[in-house]
Amino acid sequence: VSFGYEDVAPAEKTRRVGEVFASVARRYDIMNDLMSAGAHRLWKDDFVRQINPREGEDVLDMAGGTGDIAFRMAARGANVTVADINPDMLQVGIDRAAARGLTSLVWREQNAETLSFPDRSYDAYSIAFGIRNVTDIPAALREAHRVLRFGGRFFCLEFSTTTWPGFGEVYDLYSEKLVPRIGEFVAKDGASYKYLIESIRRFPPMPEFARMIEAAGFARVKYRPILGGAVAIHSGWKI
Ligand code: SAM
Repeated sequence: VSFGYEDVAPAEKTRRVGEVFASVARRYDIMNDLMSAGAHRLWKDDFVRQINPREGEDVLDMAGGTGDIAFRMAARGANVTVADINPDMLQVGIDRAAARGLTSLVWREQNAETLSFPDRSYDAYSIAFGIRNVTDIPAALREAHRVLRFGGRFFCLEFSTTTWPGFGEVYDLYSEKLVPRIGEFVAKDGASYKYLIESIRRFPPMPEFARMIEAAGFARVKYRPILGGAVAIHSGWKI
């Protein structure tokens, strides 16, 4: 099986990404813990702290998957809509929300490139570890800009390229050799995790991604590297 890290037609990439997440949905959360040694929880805490959603604000958590970001924002009193292209990931999130007695979240099956939400419906838009899986990233950024209100904020948490010398090599070795094996062993799907690693490698470096966000119309675009940029938080304003 091939998962789209060679050049394939856009519709084909979208379909293959769908297969990846349908395949890993049930094991997704435990895999995150294993692969990042639990660190993804800290990055997500950090991300939501930066977003700082207020009571009553309308927030769209795009590519929200199994709800990790949404649960943190709902805990702060925000009205959260979780949108994801993949019904299997959403279902895991819906089940997790029910188990926690969280009833206020809205769950929607949506492609980030073509949102069905009206213009100017949200105060904040978040996307965590999602944008690199989107086939047409500029289209998704334009849609983010469209659905935000004026004064609304865009936030993206994503794997990027570390600029720390030495760490890059260790990280490459880890991700190339170990992650697909953990994926094979735990999620019974090494190929999907191979795809995920490859998609990280292909993602533009931090300054280039910042320029893409600006090209979609955002102002005051910034980025904050974590671990030298192995993970990064990009943000911007719709003004
Ligand atoms: N945000 C969650 C988190 O941080 O745990 C989930 C991240 S998961 C690595 C990536 C998610 O992006 C998957 O749930 C996948 O279905 C979703 N996704 C991929 N392409 C998408 C698209 N075009 N539109 C919406 N969601 C998409």
